[in-house]
Amino acid sequence: MDSSIFNHPGIFQKAFASAESIPFSDEVRKLCQGNMCGRYGMTWNCPPATGEPEELKKKALSFKNAFVFTHTGEVSGYNNLMELNRLRDETTDILSDLCEKLKENNIPFDALGCGSCNICKKCTYPHEPCRFPEKVFPPVEAYGINVVKLAEDLKLSYKNGKNTVTFFCIIFF
Ligand code: SF4
Repeated sequence: MDSSIFNHPGIFQKAFASAESIPFSDEVRKLCQGNMCGRYGMTWNCPPATGEPEELKKKALSFKNAFVFTHTGEVSGYNNLMELNRLRDETTDILSDLCEKLKENNIPFDALGCGSCNICKKCTYPHEPCRFPEKVFPPVEAYGINVVKLAEDLKLSYKNGKNTVTFFCIIFF
């Protein structure tokens, strides 16, 4: 496979790994249920709508390889939701571009993004189906993946300076 498929000017750091080396953790999914972000059960793109962690792990591990990338940027403050959402959306755009290239090359994959979904003003969850299923990517945390450990294992920077936010995405392929 041509690894240049995974090139993108918006990527800060990237790494390839075997799918089985990705650190899944029950604790991470429990943190999700703790609803610190306030999004648990609020969209089709967050647990529990994303599915049972064991099923998601099984799906991810049906692939041999994982591509991990980060996108980073500065915010004026960590409580500036507008700037955080802008950075998150930039990251999702990169992930979408990579997924398009994988589709064009007929490469099966499972793509995991960052954070909740805020495409619609009011999510249809749980009464109607998602309006844009092709645009949403379940967050890495919904799969119970420990991003701090992932960063350590793959030597990717988790912290990149004051007022800087770094988002992680994974494509299993
Ligand atoms: S695209 Fe809309 S309906 Fe689908 S998860 Fe996002 S907010 Fe909900």
